[in-house]
Amino acid sequence: MKKIFFTPGPSQLYPTVKKHIKNALSADIPSISHRGESFQKIYQNTQNNLRKLLKIPQTHKIFFLSSALEGMERIIENCVEKSSFHLINGAFSKKFFDIARLLGKKPVKVEVEQGEGFEFEKITIPKNTELICLTQNETSTGVWLPLPQVYKIKKKYPKTSIALDIVSSVPYTKVDFNFIDCAFFSVQKGFGLPAGLGVLIVSQALIEKSKKLVKKGISIGSYHSFLELSKKDEKFQTPETPNVLNIYLLGKVTQDLLRIGINKIRQETRQKAQFLYAFFDKHPLYKPFVKNPLFRSETVIVVKTGKETKKVIARLKDKGLIVGKGYGQFKEKHIRIANFPAHNLRDMKKIVKTLQQM
Ligand SMILES: *Cc1c(COP(=O)(O)O)cnc(C)c1O
Repeated sequence: MKKIFFTPGPSQLYPTVKKHIKNALSADIPSISHRGESFQKIYQNTQNNLRKLLKIPQTHKIFFLSSALEGMERIIENCVEKSSFHLINGAFSKKFFDIARLLGKKPVKVEVEQGEGFEFEKITIPKNTELICLTQNETSTGVWLPLPQVYKIKKKYPKTSIALDIVSSVPYTKVDFNFIDCAFFSVQKGFGLPAGLGVLIVSQALIEKSKKLVKKGISIGSYHSFLELSKKDEKFQTPETPNVLNIYLLGKVTQDLLRIGINKIRQETRQKAQFLYAFFDKHPLYKPFVKNPLFRSETVIVVKTGKETKKVIARLKDKGLIVGKGYGQFKEKHIRIANFPAHNLRDMKKIVKTLQQM
């Protein structure tokens, strides 16, 4: 039976990926030199398409890394001398904090219960904060951070940089890079690609900051420091031998999304999310985990399925519908349903129909 992966990452491949992989193999993409002209063209094409799709201004650079966690580590190393500030409400926001701690910094956190959002009016950020680290979509619990709230923080603390994890909100999320100094994601979620590629979007101003750290004698890492990445970027290259195939595929899928139009994709995402939330809001047993609609994710829908979790997952699996288990402590209490561009309303309706028959 044909399977459809609603897991929040890796997830269902975007429908055109198979065709692009075949073409890439015919064109020997995995064998070409990463110092040659055809790679430089691929690199530029992917960057240009990402710029168009996500409206990334020229004030910001685009770098290729190996994963989103690598993005967190590079950002802390290159932008923080001592103290970062973190809003934590689940496993991924906590990871960002832990990485700062493990790198020997002095991160500060405000933590709320899993499934809760943040009351921004009540949050004060310590004076010495260099970087505010935020997770836009907490994939472990399905909590969304509304961007207008984030922009308000930036207006209140204009000199403090903001790093935004957009791993499971991109490309649906519409980031205004006037307020966001750096953002990062990996490609196995919303872009529907194989894992193994991370993308980091960072302002020139923040790259300048990393130079200041070097002058102070602080380590900003080695081959993937912002400075090494910038140097190679000028030649449309990466410091290491990168995931050439995935950089190529990201350029192709981004092109496909541009052809459809990002507004249409966003509208469809909203429609699919509303469809699922409407069903679960009315369901006698299975309820959305995030109570406040303001903080509900439209890209990862987390549902409390309690004692029936295993049964629900198995029944859906019988129909080829692979949904995610709950994360961590919620493994046997929740299901998670990804709502990315690769998922269509027809397949969401299959999930609902299967659950109605239980
Ligand atoms: C999946 C995920 C990550 C980690 O991504 P990797 O590609 O595994 O490094 C980080 N943050 C969020 C919000 C995620 O969903």
